[in-house]
Amino acid sequence: MKITKNQSLLGYNSFGINALADEFVEVEHSEEIAQLVEDHFFENRMTLFLGGGNNIVFVGDFHGTVVHLANKGIAVVDEDSDIVTVRAEAGEVWDDFVWHCLDNQWFGLENLVAIPSSIGAAAVQNIGAYGVEAKDFIVAVEAIDTVTGEKRRFSNADCRFGYRDSVFKHSETQCVITAVSFRLSKTPHLRLSYKAITDYLSANAIANPTPKQLAQCIADIRWSKLPKPEVQGSVGSFFKNPVVTASLYEGLKERFPDMVAYPAGDGYKLAAGWLIEKSGWKGRTLGRAGVYPKQALVLVNCGGCDGNDVVRLANAVIADVEAMFGVRLQPEAIIVG
Ligand SMILES: Cc1cc2nc3c(=O)[nH]c(=O)nc-3n(C[C@H](O)[C@H](O)[C@H](O)COP(=O)(O)OP(=O)(O)OC[C@H]3O[C@@H](n4cnc5c(N)ncnc54)[C@H](O)[C@@H]3O)c2cc1C
Repeated sequence: MKITKNQSLLGYNSFGINALADEFVEVEHSEEIAQLVEDHFFENRMTLFLGGGNNIVFVGDFHGTVVHLANKGIAVVDEDSDIVTVRAEAGEVWDDFVWHCLDNQWFGLENLVAIPSSIGAAAVQNIGAYGVEAKDFIVAVEAIDTVTGEKRRFSNADCRFGYRDSVFKHSETQCVITAVSFRLSKTPHLRLSYKAITDYLSANAIANPTPKQLAQCIADIRWSKLPKPEVQGSVGSFFKNPVVTASLYEGLKERFPDMVAYPAGDGYKLAAGWLIEKSGWKGRTLGRAGVYPKQALVLVNCGGCDGNDVVRLANAVIADVEAMFGVRLQPEAIIVG
């Protein structure tokens, strides 16, 4: 295990923010976490568990310990003729895992391809895209309680998954995820219903896509709309799509007939990107941060941006959307500092 002081986090967050961590621990084996707990390492220490930093905005330096999960390993733990259960260590790169599954003809994760994530954070965040969420395939999450050192195994129900949410964001004691197991099918059941997918397939004359063709289609669509982190810093969607009551939705729909919304429980989920675009922010910048011209839900680093630039822009967007629609946007991004 490697411990460094005053480590730059520039290469550890997709926004490309150059913050420092007072202390930085690189974990390559999950047993190292157990050892750290046994040594009381986490006591009286502000700790941040970090995967790829693809959903974190550092506002200033982190005056605590960043523990970077870099433990790797993928193994089949159970299988029959139809189903396979695959266990991946928390530090595996999500997209590599998706393609590894496709190479082995284990299906289900195609629509989640190209999401920048570690395996551990995929469970924390319940990542989702194109009508699919990680929770649809997760059967177990292994974690270590950083206070008691207890090794815990969470079933899918124990994880209390929600929209970009799970029990791991709310636990009273901090648990670090060490591995996640996924139940995948040996028979493909492709989800093709999104218009962007059908448009892409017909434009490329693909009538019956293979799972790999679908994954490639989704990766291509994603990167035509989103900035690649290595090209321009962002955390993907910066805000959550807000869910509002039916009466608020109806009032808004009368004022804005072209408003984009979907039924969600008793209310409606509004497209935050549409709200931001209508409030006039799409393509605009404030300081060194901006609203991505191709997708208003994405805030981007316009060069040398720090966390304060991002927060200032986010607050300006929130204020204007609230003034226009009476809806307060909540960040999906995790603001640290
Ligand atoms: C270009 C781009 C596109 C994106 N598109 C999508 C999308 O389509 N759908 C989507 O859902 N998300 C999307 N995101 C957001 C991001 O991919 C997810 O939030 C992802 O899960 C973050 O993974 P990470 O490993 O980088 O986590 P980090 O950002 O490092 O951490 C996220 C949170 O998880 C915690 N955490 C990380 N690892 C562990 C662990 N092992 N144990 C306990 N806690 C842990 C961290 O403390 C933090 O609270 C996108 C991001 C980018 C940059």
